[in-house]
Amino acid sequence: MDLIILGAPGAGKGTLAADLCPRLSIKHISTGDLLREVIASGSKLGAEINNFVSTGALVPDELIGQMIRDTLNADACQNGVLLDGFPRTIPQAELLEQIMTELGRPLAAVFYLNVELDRVIRRLINRVSCQKCGRPYHLLNLPPQKAGICDACGGALIQREDDREETIRKRFATFLAKTQPLIDFYKAKNLLTEVMADDNPQAALNFALQYLGVSAA
Ligand SMILES: [Zn+2]
Repeated sequence: MDLIILGAPGAGKGTLAADLCPRLSIKHISTGDLLREVIASGSKLGAEINNFVSTGALVPDELIGQMIRDTLNADACQNGVLLDGFPRTIPQAELLEQIMTELGRPLAAVFYLNVELDRVIRRLINRVSCQKCGRPYHLLNLPPQKAGICDACGGALIQREDDREETIRKRFATFLAKTQPLIDFYKAKNLLTEVMADDNPQAALNFALQYLGVSAA
């Protein structure tokens, strides 16, 4: 079973992917991680991709498509994949459709984690991590014992640039603008399912499983 997951940064994609994939025995394919792996593998494709990545240029769809095709053909992915970070554009979605048709693996569903901006802000703005050891904290859900200080090493807790409210607002707006065409594309194909991304990961998981006809735990 091959799936796609869409969602704004902070919508909880990572959590749902981590919960869902083991239940379905499919592999979570984050395109960012995959790109790094392919480059590190030293393959011919990896070297070609690295030529673009190392100069900060956009990797051509043709190369990304080849990477996705190789991935779908890999032994570990025969049961299916959850694609995260690909496709990002309509041409990429069309390319993926072509690849999946060739492989006889039609897409089963596209999950769109729909989340309100205010909720994303609340979730991300409280994230801090240790400057020294990198240990993550959440000021509401997982606070340190002493404010501003890492429990593990005594280092100072800092907020990442990405987690500042202005940055969150900008990324969210960019995500929506870029993703709306994809949402419409998959809606038109009756493949899109909205998952309400509130603060209940278990409910999101159960919804996804139920939708796929897999019984919840
Ligand atoms: Zn620390």
